[in-house]
Parts: sequence; C-alpha cells; structure tokens
Amino acid sequence: MKRRALVIGGSLGGLFAANLLADLGWEVDVYEKVADDLAARGAGIGTHAELIAVLARLGIALDERLGIASGERICVDPTGRELYRCAWGHVMSAWANVYRPLKDRFPRSRYHFGKGFASLAQDASGVSARFEDGSEARGDLLIGADGLRSAVRSRLFPGLEPAYAGYVAWRSIVEETALPAATRAWLGTGYWFVLPPGEMMLCYQVPAKDPARGGRDWNYVWYRPVTEQQLADICTDATGRCHGTGIPPPLIRPDVAAAIRDDARRLLAPQIAEIVQRAQPFFQAIFDIESPRLAVGRVALLGDAAFVARPHVGMGVTKGALDAACLANSIAQCADLQSALARYDRLRGEFGRRCVARARQLGSYIEARSRPERAWTPGELDQRPQRVLQEVARSLADIPQLAELGV
Ligand SMILES: Cc1cc2nc3c(=O)[nH]c(=O)nc-3n(C[C@H](O)[C@H](O)[C@H](O)COP(=O)(O)OP(=O)(O)OC[C@H]3O[C@@H](n4cnc5c(N)ncnc54)[C@H](O)[C@@H]3O)c2cc1C
Repeated sequence: MKRRALVIGGSLGGLFAANLLADLGWEVDVYEKVADDLAARGAGIGTHAELIAVLARLGIALDERLGIASGERICVDPTGRELYRCAWGHVMSAWANVYRPLKDRFPRSRYHFGKGFASLAQDASGVSARFEDGSEARGDLLIGADGLRSAVRSRLFPGLEPAYAGYVAWRSIVEETALPAATRAWLGTGYWFVLPPGEMMLCYQVPAKDPARGGRDWNYVWYRPVTEQQLADICTDATGRCHGTGIPPPLIRPDVAAAIRDDARRLLAPQIAEIVQRAQPFFQAIFDIESPRLAVGRVALLGDAAFVARPHVGMGVTKGALDAACLANSIAQCADLQSALARYDRLRGEFGRRCVARARQLGSYIEARSRPERAWTPGELDQRPQRVLQEVARSLADIPQLAELGV
C-alpha cells in the first residue's frame, strides 16, 4: 500500500516536499490555510546553486524567466560616491517564478486551499491532522511546512515563540519604467548597498512581478533598528488600533510612510532614494527561531517552520528546498521512517542552527542600535562595506560551516 504524507502549508517549502515525496511514490496531500493561489505574494529572492539543483531534480529548468544575473555589488555613501565594489555572480529571481512551476507540477486535486491546520494526534500506526473546519486527514507522516508562525511547531513545542531581532525590513518593488531614465542609467544592473550607521539598505533588479507585463522591477530591502516600543507604534493604524508585530500594508499610517521617504532622501544616495519615493513602502519585523528538534514521532518540521534565520543569509527558500531534498533522500535511503526522520533531524538540525547563528552575526550591528544596553563586541558592530558586501547572501559553497553539511 502507498504511504501517505500530509503536508501542512502549501508555500515553497511545502511544495518542494510534496513534489519530491510524490516522486518517491508517496500519496501526498497539501493543506494550505490561505483560500486562493499564492502567486501574487512574495517579492525578489536571491537564488543559490543548491536551489537550482533541487529544481532541476524536479525537471524545472532555470530559464531566462526565472532570474536576472547581477554582475557587481556596489556600496555608495549618501551622496552616491562609491565606497566599495566587488564582483558578484548571483541570480536574482521572483518568488512567484519558483512557486508557479512547483505548484503546476503537483496534482491539483491533492492541493487543498482554505484548510487551516488546527491540531494533530499520533500513535504507532499513523498521524492524524485536524483542520479548523472540523475535517480530519490521516497519514504515515505529517510535514509541518507552515512557516514562521507554524501551528505544527506550536503543537510539538508549546511556548516556543519567534524572537524579535530588534529591527524591521522596509521593502517594496518599483516597475523599472516608473524610474526616470537618468536614474535607470545610473543604477544599471548593479546590486546596490547603502550602509547608514546601524542600517543596511540593498536594492537590485528582479523579474517583473507580473509576468504578463514582462521586463524588470527594482526591489529594495532596508533594514532599520526599531525598538519594541517603536514597533508597536508603526504597527498602529490611523484609528489607533495596534496590529501586533505586523500591519497590512494599506493600513500603514501616512505619517509613518512619509517618515521613511524623508529618511530615504536624507540617508541614501539620491538615485536609490528615488526608488523608495516611487513605491508604497511596507515593512516586516525580523524574527528568528530555532526548533529544538526537526522530527517528533511521525511529524517533521521543514523550511521556516523548522528554523528561521534572519534574511541576511539570503537562504530561506534554498534552505526549504534542501530540507525537502534531505527528507526525501533520507526516506529513500533508510530502512524505515523512524531512522529516516532521525537522519533528517541530525543533518538539517545542524544546518539550521548554523544558518541562524550566521544570520544573527550579520545582523548584530543593526540589532545593537535597538538594544544599546547589551555589551557588543567590536566584531559584532562591524559594518565595514567590504565585510557586509562579501558576507550577505554569500554562496553556500563559500561558507565552509554550511557547505560541509551537504544534503
Ligand atoms: C525581508 C525578507 C527577505 C527575504 N529574502 C529572501 C531571499 O532573498 N532569498 C531567500 O531564499 N529567502 C528570503 N527570505 C525568506 C523566505 O521568504 C522564506 O524563508 C521562505 O519563503 C520560507 O518558505 P516556507 O514554505 O518554509 O514558509 P512560508 O513561505 O512562510 O509558507 C508557509 C505556508 O504555510 C501556510 N500556513 C500557515 N499556517 C497554516 C496552518 N495553520 N494551516 C495550513 N497552512 C498554514 C501559510 O499560509 C504559507 O503559505 C526573506 C524573508 C524576508 C522576511
């Protein structure tokens, strides 16, 4: 009889796992809380060779549509003067360009939208999931791929919560054609950095968010220290309601959005500030979390449900793909599910812990501004352009502590 997997969360991590297990001959069902197709979400992502390799294993080729190669990283000061430059061969892609082929490859009838996972129960013969609508499903394995606020993780480790890093990422995407010709010419195809004290702004081109339109967009991510008290303020809408640690973009108060645009004019090179002026900015508070184990009985955690590293390692999607590949390899290689999950836990647990530690180190100079009371070492406060440009989203193969773990 076919073995059956229940995948909770139908984003990239869940879809990698679902496709790889289906290829091993498993019967797989994906349960996604959101009711509609997810393609409209997500922004630019940095790719890694390891991500491309997992896509290739699924028969999904990297073509022109999937990415834009950026040749150089350049750091400039607020006047636009160059401070540092280095060669950089990464391909920038769009989230939807990875999601779409993964989603299309998986049987439609087995992808269930609008199914919020609520609880689980497991015994020697299987695992059952209960959903918010009262329905249930049973299988041999349950995969929690339900992201940062994973309900599956909460069931396994009650009380374990993501930790706020002390800063937020302001971001947005601007159509290339919305920028003045002189600005476009100055930006070229560079991957730009500006490093105001205690901050990190980066911007780069990504394929157009709307594939029908074609062309390119400029994507920016601006990390800024924000104390917990300030976070509560910027998450408060014009009616005075605080939305917790995140606020839907349309509800961001006009004074908060205006302040970001003013700061961009003051702190960033004019051509880069122009990108901030042209789009409606939104922000995400930065969190990280480490699960103590990635497998408990017949339940495995994967992607952001397992570990969230701050985005400076540029590896969230790649980590999800590698987690899924390791889980599938472990199942294919081991005699039984229990030993497969033990292997997965050992290999990917270590990878996740190292990723989180590295990302914390890269973001420590930003965090330090919102937690001045902590004693920071000079190394933790190092924001020299050469260090930041060389280390942010570095190739996995060039990070010995991660490369040696493989999949
Ligand atoms: C500012 C920023 C920049 C980033 N830049 C990059 C980058 O350049 N490169 C990169 O690789 N990564 C980047 N990331 C990280 C990347 O977005 C994530 O690591 C990656 O998307 C994780 O995928 P996932 O499938 O594990 O989780 P998610 O994409 O969070 O998906 C979880 C899914 O589970 C669903 N779900 C949640 N709860 C339930 C429930 N109870 N029942 C059923 N379904 C549920 C959700 O709706 C969602 O679809 C960045 C992140 C941030 C914040």
